[in-house]
Amino acid sequence: MGIARALIAIPTPADYLNATLRRDDPMNWITNYVRPTINSLFSRREMPENLWEKCPSCGTMLFHRELTENQRVCNSCGHHMTVSPRERFAGFFDGGLYTEISVPQPIVDPLLFRDQKKYPDRMKAAQKQTGEKEAMLVAEGEIMRTRIVAVAQDFEFMAGSMGMHVGNAIIAGCEHAIKRKLPLVLFSAAGGARMQEGILSLMQMPRTTVAVDMLREAGLPYIVVLTNPTTGGVTASYAMLGDVQIAEPGALICFAGPRVIEQTIREKLPEGFQRAEYLLEHGMLDRVTPRPQLRTEIATILRMLGGLGPVVHGDLPRPDPAAIIEAAQAEAAAQTPEEK
Ligand SMILES: [Zn+2]
Repeated sequence: MGIARALIAIPTPADYLNATLRRDDPMNWITNYVRPTINSLFSRREMPENLWEKCPSCGTMLFHRELTENQRVCNSCGHHMTVSPRERFAGFFDGGLYTEISVPQPIVDPLLFRDQKKYPDRMKAAQKQTGEKEAMLVAEGEIMRTRIVAVAQDFEFMAGSMGMHVGNAIIAGCEHAIKRKLPLVLFSAAGGARMQEGILSLMQMPRTTVAVDMLREAGLPYIVVLTNPTTGGVTASYAMLGDVQIAEPGALICFAGPRVIEQTIREKLPEGFQRAEYLLEHGMLDRVTPRPQLRTEIATILRMLGGLGPVVHGDLPRPDPAAIIEAAQAEAAAQTPEEK
């Protein structure tokens, strides 16, 4: 009887209020769960993906925009985080402006290599993750008004491994530098050779060495900036052939890693072994320079080597070519009557 009465009873405003407050009420579920979920799905896209990033060295939460402005160097402990070639060029070149130089594409998967995954599948995953075609980017631009060609390796792309494309990129960079009579600056970051390309990957060591030699014959400076980590076959070729060898602070630079050496010689290695500062102390490097100072330092070295005037500090406006021609014409016009 009670149920029947409840079914036919006319609900009062108080009944509606109670109904909306009841947790198992379907309307309540829609307002409290479904609607916020839908809203969050849409609003999530409008929010910047990562406003904050944690420093892997000291654990400080860093504001994303400030971190980008500081070229991904922690302003709390000075830890140098990994940068993509595009991020690096944006902070390195004057006004972040540069022209990308095209690199000839090598044959895709020449050995039909397969481990747990097929090589082309690994490539596709790396391309999706980084938004880049391959592990090296070549560009021409200016640093402190000094025109250069720069090559940067992408550690996020299959650990920056040296495959045929990396070889092609270095050769393209060297050839472009020779054609334009410009110095070459190379930023290395690699886990070594790309094993999916087998012997073809190892062949990039002599290929890139010959390319660097071509620069030398043309009398053009070649500066290497070793970044964390530069290891394996890369340190056995182009990354160690610079006229000036610079490293970023704390960078691991080695042929075989410290763990492998410890296991082989069964001895504990000294503190900071194979780090940039240790290598500088032991004569393997010329400089250890923090990333934000690289622009000034490299421009200064290149201007000294090229016999150019000193670096201009500060941001003077670029001379307008049209104004120079006009001034020259005015001067010529003023001089003509006197000469006649
Ligand atoms: Zn830090």
